[in-house]
Amino acid sequence: MSKIKYTLEDSFKHKGRRKRLVQELRGKGITDQTVLDAILTVPRHFFFPKDFWDEAYEDKAFPIGSGQTISQPYTVAFQTQLLRVHKGAQILEVGTGSGYQAAILAHLGAKVFTIERVEELYRKTTQLFGKLKLPVTCYLGDGSMGLPQKSPFDGIVVTAGGNSLAEQLKEQLGKGGRLVVPTGNRSIQKMVLIERLVENKYERTEHGDFKFVPLLGKNGWET
Ligand code: SAM
Repeated sequence: MSKIKYTLEDSFKHKGRRKRLVQELRGKGITDQTVLDAILTVPRHFFFPKDFWDEAYEDKAFPIGSGQTISQPYTVAFQTQLLRVHKGAQILEVGTGSGYQAAILAHLGAKVFTIERVEELYRKTTQLFGKLKLPVTCYLGDGSMGLPQKSPFDGIVVTAGGNSLAEQLKEQLGKGGRLVVPTGNRSIQKMVLIERLVENKYERTEHGDFKFVPLLGKNGWET
């Protein structure tokens, strides 16, 4: 795990709440210790509006403005566990939102690229990454087509619900790469994992039902 120093206040109270959250996630079936350690280390309240810091360690999604949400900690842990991030892995996140998922990936030592389509969120989160000195590269735009100029990726995680299996995203995986993409209709999605086994061979598995805000854009829902 990388040693990233945070510059906002992380109190004993918040650290204690993170410990409890980790126990809760373990109880819900998260087993990857590196993921649990990242949740324990990254102060989720930094990614919340200051007035709501005390709500940051409930296992719930929370509004972050612009009609969007920071994902539920269980969902972040589940998607990260499916990605199997190793140190130095090149990872693309579609849907930067608050920046929390990207911060977890950075803590696991990944080289993180993240795209957000809402300008206000992009600006706010890029500023926060600067303040926290988090090594994450942010893009503003439609991530439903991936980021071909930075491919191949060891992992791609989509943090909004799509309606199809974005072929373009699959093609941006390197050999052995893993794409984690919630896929379904606007109200419910299956967590789909696609692994690129060799050049033209992919394996698709499904990992339960989740509910995300919609993935908009060319390969998503209409805006
Ligand atoms: N990963 C985020 C976090 O840790 O806070 C959760 C983000 S929220 C559940 C989903 C995000 O995806 C929203 O910020 C939304 O604006 C963004 N989004 C939706 N469609 C997108 C697209 N085509 N390209 C980039 N971002 C998109």
